[in-house]
Amino acid sequence: MTAGNTKGKIYLSSPHMGESELLYVQDAFETNWIAPLGPHVEGFERELAQYVGVKGALALSSGTAAIHLALKYLNVAADDIVFCSTLTFVATANPILYLGAKPVFIDSEPDSWNMSPRALERALRKAESTGHLPKAVIVVNLYGQSADMDELLRLCEQYDVPLLEDAAESLGATYKGRASGTFGKFGVYSFNGNKIITTSGGGMLVSDDTDALDKIRFWSTQARDSAKHYQHSEVGYNYRLSNVLAAIGRGQLKVLDERIAARRKIFDTYYERFRNIPGISFMPEASFGKSNRWLSAMTIDPAACGVTASECIDLLAEHNIESRPVWKPMHLQPLFQGCEYYPHEENHSVSDLLFHTGICLPSGSNLTSSDLERVIGSLEQGLKRGIGV
Ligand SMILES: *Cc1c(COP(=O)(O)O)cnc(C)c1O
Repeated sequence: MTAGNTKGKIYLSSPHMGESELLYVQDAFETNWIAPLGPHVEGFERELAQYVGVKGALALSSGTAAIHLALKYLNVAADDIVFCSTLTFVATANPILYLGAKPVFIDSEPDSWNMSPRALERALRKAESTGHLPKAVIVVNLYGQSADMDELLRLCEQYDVPLLEDAAESLGATYKGRASGTFGKFGVYSFNGNKIITTSGGGMLVSDDTDALDKIRFWSTQARDSAKHYQHSEVGYNYRLSNVLAAIGRGQLKVLDERIAARRKIFDTYYERFRNIPGISFMPEASFGKSNRWLSAMTIDPAACGVTASECIDLLAEHNIESRPVWKPMHLQPLFQGCEYYPHEENHSVSDLLFHTGICLPSGSNLTSSDLERVIGSLEQGLKRGIGV
């Protein structure tokens, strides 16, 4: 047993409650708004819409559910094509399969690690030439940083394809001063347990098209026609967020700005301590935006460092510290074997390299400075071992 094992576990990103969440939950209990919907759902929607600056928001049971219904609204159906960022969590792409459609994956560009406009342009040009333009493009804002929305939107508008923004990781980040998640036809946020704010589980769909949100609200509550009896003309889903969880969300929203500041500070600390080590590079913050630094991510070049990212992850685990590789790209997943893929350059895939060399370090806003020192010390030990010090 190593010394590290006697210390408490340090998580990658764990829930961090503020002071008012329990008061809102208590209110839900006292008013017996435990179910079904209730005033906290509306309150949470209103407050989030105001925070990011959109006309409407719809609280759902997960970010995945939000992506599913947004794609359905965009008329994605069997055998259609949907373009999707390859470097993401599988939840972005799964709803494409729920609808029987086919994903085509688009690589990242090195400046933001997000969808490469160059690769998207090649993919759209090719799709147009074969008469198979996608029904939607899903752009992911990775680890809290916005993609280059102006470039991506310009291409989508040129080919008249709607853009869906998966901002599950980027709530509170900005692109050219405007809130991440508000650029596409729809934006999606997640309040899963490891996200920058959490309701234990939940999601939000936002848009300026409130008619579209009304339609999706109808689908999300079992598609009940307006009739006294239970009458249904369309297939529905049970995807709404509960009033109790929305109560937690209202409390969490109050501390979002503090959570962002804390995560950015954690990133800056890692950056200061490791930036001069040859072979270490950090996820860049592109000049067009401000990241919420949901996760601090960096790459380790094994040729320069003498260790791989994977070995560092194992070493941190020995010290009871959770770290993770960068997402395994969707085009490399067995689930998506055979799907088309457009790399950044014809013969150069950026996401493959990020996956093989990337590591996400503990980034929770509740990480103490001694936790942070423990992570840094353990990682330094691994890097020194690598160069044989
Ligand atoms: C977390 C996450 C989701 C899914 O959100 P859930 O609320 O867990 O369904 C989707 N996309 C990305 C990029 C995520 O990180």
